[in-house]
Amino acid sequence: MQTVGVIGLGLMGKPMASNLLKAGFAVTVFNRSRPAMDALAAEGATAAASPAEVGRASDVVVTMVPDSPDVEAVLLGPDGVCTAAKPGTLLIDMSTIAPAAVRRIHETVASKGFRMLDAPVSGGDVGAKAGTLSIMVGGTPEDFERARPVFEAMGKTITLCGPAGAGQLVKACNQIVGALVLNAISEAIVFGRAAGVDPEIMIRVLQGGVAATRAMEVRGARMAKGDFAPGFKAAHHLKDLRIVIDEAKARGLTLPTTSSVADMLATLVREGNGTLDNSSILTMVERAAGAARAARP
Ligand code: NAP
Repeated sequence: MQTVGVIGLGLMGKPMASNLLKAGFAVTVFNRSRPAMDALAAEGATAAASPAEVGRASDVVVTMVPDSPDVEAVLLGPDGVCTAAKPGTLLIDMSTIAPAAVRRIHETVASKGFRMLDAPVSGGDVGAKAGTLSIMVGGTPEDFERARPVFEAMGKTITLCGPAGAGQLVKACNQIVGALVLNAISEAIVFGRAAGVDPEIMIRVLQGGVAATRAMEVRGARMAKGDFAPGFKAAHHLKDLRIVIDEAKARGLTLPTTSSVADMLATLVREGNGTLDNSSILTMVERAAGAARAARP
């Protein structure tokens, strides 16, 4: 069985590493701050002192960090994975980053003798804990097959989407839908509440019909209560929508609703709320709709 390294043990990386341990992999972990490493060591992982040490110990290295500079730092930095990993080591970046950055990083690591897949995920912290993530992969069919057992420990829908960067392009599509769905749920809550509808009844009814969504199932009741513990941080969703907007621009496209939601997320982040769940977009919709926040129970 391949030895697996995991770097970045936040809301997603920690439960993903936990599921790799449960599947029987020998797992070496590294994170910027210590507590998540200690928690995983208690489950049987080996805590490394640096990304290089993870690279030295692993056949496959999974990265799950916020953005492309973080991926570049842990893979290609002075104490990065590529300074110590064996030739042929498979690097799987599961963070959400720009497709253009992916293609650049793929080329650099290939020139150093390593293999790479981009494999962003959907399913949130709930899917990460349950091991039911949807994993969208860019890279070669050979590397995809080599990674399959690792993916199967963390996800259920596992799809090779095309060459390097293709996983991130599908993830960008996912983030458009995710943002617009949260916006739609927010408008339904604001409108329903103003009209005297109990949001919990509204959500139960909608979940039985054509408006049912996974986002409403896992976040709807909490949104109605104003519980915005993350989840998926608003700042990360803004990062993702900026990736989408840049990719769209490069193709001469304007995405009007995505841009409008990105503007609301930008305000939320600018006001210091970037670590709240992305469903806190509700507070921006409330503001834009002129609904009093105090109306929430
Ligand atoms: P998160 O909770 O902010 O976790 C990021 C982790 O990376 C933190 O533990 C952080 O360490 C660590 N980190 C950052 N820079 C590092 C570095 N240079 N070296 C080592 N560790 C480093 O974020 P997340 O929600 O897990 O998201 C991770 C990625 O997955 C993002 O690209 C996000 O967009 C994507 N994603 C998230 C979700 C979701 O629902 N949360 C769903 C799909 C995709 P500290 O503990 O020191 O901060």
